[in-house]
Amino acid sequence: MTNYRRNASTVLLFWMAGGHLCGLAEAETINSDRAIVVRVEDKADLPLEVLNFARNHVERIFTEAGVQILVELDLPTWSDPPAVEFTLVLAPENLVREMSLGQQVLGLALRDDGRNSGRAYIFASNVDRHAERARGEIPYLNRERARGLILGHAVAHEVGHLLLPTSGHASNGVMQPEISVTEAFYGHVRFTPEEGIAIRDALDRALE
Ligand SMILES: [Zn+2]
Repeated sequence: MTNYRRNASTVLLFWMAGGHLCGLAEAETINSDRAIVVRVEDKADLPLEVLNFARNHVERIFTEAGVQILVELDLPTWSDPPAVEFTLVLAPENLVREMSLGQQVLGLALRDDGRNSGRAYIFASNVDRHAERARGEIPYLNRERARGLILGHAVAHEVGHLLLPTSGHASNGVMQPEISVTEAFYGHVRFTPEEGIAIRDALDRALE
């Protein structure tokens, strides 16, 4: 269905301020010492199905960059904290209004100085708006998968802001300020090779 890609008009929009997600217990199968840990606080009460679709996208994007990522709800308080742990808040509609954000903005990353922690917000109501537009472009995409698609790419993008040494956007890949939803749907949105190196370096430094 290449016509969808050619005609791609729906984009994912991110806030430049550069600050994501999601699911079931795979903690025992991932060595959290070597993984980026993302602690999810779901204030928007998203369905677990959506969170899991999103997590699949996040894991694929980071795996392609050579990095393990653990995205979980309800993580314990660690006795021995992981080297890199971010907090991802899935924020409800009222926060979008209170922060006077537009309906296009999907996320925000707030980095700390050391880059080994930090907090990101994803605006769930705006994810839903983008998801509805995505379904107009890809008719066989059901609502929950569309929400997971948008959410997952938004999470990968914001976590990228938390990890990468520069806070700006890229001209291609997942760190673009706008991502084609059809490119995302076909699994073509990823970190660039250079970004992959920078992320692995950041993780290595955190582990030293
Ligand atoms: Zn951004």
